[in-house]
Amino acid sequence: MIIRHPEKINKPINPIKKKPSWIRSKLKNSQEFFSTKSIVNKYKLKTVCQEANCPNITECWSEKHATFLIMGDTCTRACAFCNIITGKPKALDPLEPLKISSAVEKLNLKHAVITSVDRDDLDDGGANHFYEVIIETRKNNPETTIEVLTPDFLRKEDSYKKVIEAKPDVFNHNIETVPGLYRLVRPGSRYFASVELLKNAKNIDKNIFTKSGLMVGLGEKKNEILQVMDDLRSAEVDFLTIGQYLQPSVKHHPLDKYYRPEEFEELESIAKSKGFLLISSSPLTRSSYHADEDFAKLQKNRINQTNAQSIS
Ligand code: SF4
Repeated sequence: MIIRHPEKINKPINPIKKKPSWIRSKLKNSQEFFSTKSIVNKYKLKTVCQEANCPNITECWSEKHATFLIMGDTCTRACAFCNIITGKPKALDPLEPLKISSAVEKLNLKHAVITSVDRDDLDDGGANHFYEVIIETRKNNPETTIEVLTPDFLRKEDSYKKVIEAKPDVFNHNIETVPGLYRLVRPGSRYFASVELLKNAKNIDKNIFTKSGLMVGLGEKKNEILQVMDDLRSAEVDFLTIGQYLQPSVKHHPLDKYYRPEEFEELESIAKSKGFLLISSSPLTRSSYHADEDFAKLQKNRINQTNAQSIS
């Protein structure tokens, strides 16, 4: 049996709070779900849907939406909220770009979302591998738009630029939580380095859509959430996702509270007032949830914004 989180063995036990009635995954058991599963298995791919134990998996896979996890299933960081295995990763698979590209084709994806584990062990943090996956995927699927959800490339100097060079349609990097909780929740990461990464991505390519995600329920205060929104807007982030933190096990960071649906609505309307092009805020929002539909909305909102600016 794999011990997914060896670093958490000596952590205290934090009992998991019962889920409220409004947190219910849409259970589907369709043929499409199994067809997605068989394509993922055929190419021996990893998905964040499975590795992070995402509550939306039956719904998304029934729509043939899977989020690919590249560079292995083992992460070099040990975030207190995350269910992905922590440890020493294996060598990169040179055939992975081709496998992802083939799976995107077989799934007939209009919009592909590609994420990865953190690879602090690699000199470039995996930026060149991201580049190859994007280029190969586009070669085979020229009509498919590509969204990447990247690590922070902390202490990897300018390596992230290689990812931008491949021109993904959406550059996503999740801020995850408020700065005051980083030491507990993302001890290996730095809040302002993440904000800076998003800002630099936009500075390099103004056409790229930038996106970031925040989890709530970890113990943050409302004014801290608003501060994160301001920091992300100052980095010109276009799209903000806000979702409920669900504690993966008794050894993970304790859940502080379940936000009510109306609290998510309130956060959405505050974020709107701060100028994001798009906000998705609900208990089951995840950064890749409905990413294809949201991409279409992002494009439309940008056109509307540009038209409004040219009239005024
Ligand atoms: S929300 Fe994202 S991670 Fe979760 S199942 Fe859907 S595509 Fe996968």
